[in-house]
Amino acid sequence: MANIKVPYLDLKAQYQSIKPEIDAAIARVLDSCQFVLGSEVAGFEQEFATYCGTTECIALNSGTSALHLALLAAGVGPGDEVITVPFTFVASVAAVCYTGARPVLVDIDPRSFTMDPAAVEAAITPRTKAILPVHLYGQPADMDPIMEIARRHGLVVIEDAAQAHGAKYKGRPVGSIGDMACFSFYPGKNLGAYGEGGAVTTNNAEHARTVRMLRDWGQDRKYHHVLRGYNYRMEGFQGAILRVKLRYLEQWTEARRAVVAQYNQHLADTGVERPTEMPWARHVYHVYTLRADDRDSLQTALQAEGIQTGIHYPVPVHLQPAYADLGYGRGAFPRSEAAAAQVLSLPLYPELSSAAVAEVAGVVKKAVANRTQATVSR
Ligand SMILES: *Cc1c(COP(=O)(O)O)cnc(C)c1O
Repeated sequence: MANIKVPYLDLKAQYQSIKPEIDAAIARVLDSCQFVLGSEVAGFEQEFATYCGTTECIALNSGTSALHLALLAAGVGPGDEVITVPFTFVASVAAVCYTGARPVLVDIDPRSFTMDPAAVEAAITPRTKAILPVHLYGQPADMDPIMEIARRHGLVVIEDAAQAHGAKYKGRPVGSIGDMACFSFYPGKNLGAYGEGGAVTTNNAEHARTVRMLRDWGQDRKYHHVLRGYNYRMEGFQGAILRVKLRYLEQWTEARRAVVAQYNQHLADTGVERPTEMPWARHVYHVYTLRADDRDSLQTALQAEGIQTGIHYPVPVHLQPAYADLGYGRGAFPRSEAAAAQVLSLPLYPELSSAAVAEVAGVVKKAVANRTQATVSR
C-alpha cells in the first residue's frame, strides 16, 4: 500500500489550530472535578440550543443514545412502527429496535440520498408512531412534506441530524424542525468531541424533561426513580471541549463548503456524478460523495496514489445480516442498493488545502479518463 498522502480526515490539524483554548478547557474541568454533567455541560446545552434555534438541548453520551431516548420520549415501544431509511448508518435503525418497536423502511430520493417523502405515506399503518428522517451526509431531508404527512396522521417526527450540525432547510436550522432531533459528537462528525457525545434538541418542554430524566437513571431527584432510565450522561470534558469547538463551527462549515466548491469545479465535465445541493438545503458536507458505476476501481486508483477514501455506506441496513429478520430482501429498496454500490467519499475536512484538493481531483480525473479509454478500446 502506498504511503498516505491525503488522509480522509485529519483531526490533529484541527486540534493544533485551537490547542490553547482546548487545553484551558480541559484544565477547567480538572480544576472543578465536574467530570460528569456539571456546569460546562450545562453551558454547552444552552449554547447548542441557541445555535439550533430551540429552547431545549439535552447532552448525552452518544448520538445513538440520543436516538434511543428521543424515541422513548415519543412513547415508542413494543408493537409500534417507526418509518426510516435503509441507506444510513446502522444506528438510525438499531435505536428503533432498542425500544422494542419495528423499523419500517422506505427508499431514498436518489439525488439527495435522503428519505423520499413520496414513499412515506404508503408505509403508514395503524401501528406507526414516528417518522425518523436522516439528514445524510449533512444535507437535510425534504422536511415540509414529511412534517405535513406526520401532522395529518398524528405522528412524531425525530430528525437524525447526527451528520448535519448547522445544516438548514429553507433557512431553518436542522434540529428545530421535527418534534425532536438527535445529534452525534463522535470525533469525526462536523462538531466532534474528544470522545463520545450526543444530544437531543427540541422545543417541547415535556419531551425535554423525559429525555433529561432518562439519561440519568430516570430520577426526578436523587435516588427517586420515576422512570426506568439509563446512564447516558455527557462527560464534563466533552461539554467543555464542545463549547470551544462550537464557536468555530460556522467557520469550519464555510471551509468545508469552500473545499466542496473546489472539488465541484475540478470535477465538472468529467462525467463522474457529483453531490447535489438540493434547492431547499444549506448542505454542511459531512461527506463529499461521488457516484460511479466502477466505484471500487476508482477507490483502488486513489489508494494507489496515497489518497484515502470512504464508502458511506457499502451495505444498506436491510441487507445487513443483523437485520435480515426485518424481512426485506435484495431488491426491496433499489435506489438505496444502487447508491450503496456506487458512492465514494473523497477526503474532506475544514483544513484540507487547495493543493490537496487539486491533487485528489487530478487522480479522479485521470482514473476516469483511463476508464473511458478502456471502455472505448474494448
Ligand atoms: C454517527 C451517526 C449516528 C450515531 O452517533 P454515535 O454518536 O456514533 O452514537 C447515528 N446516525 C447517523 C446518521 C450517524 O452518522
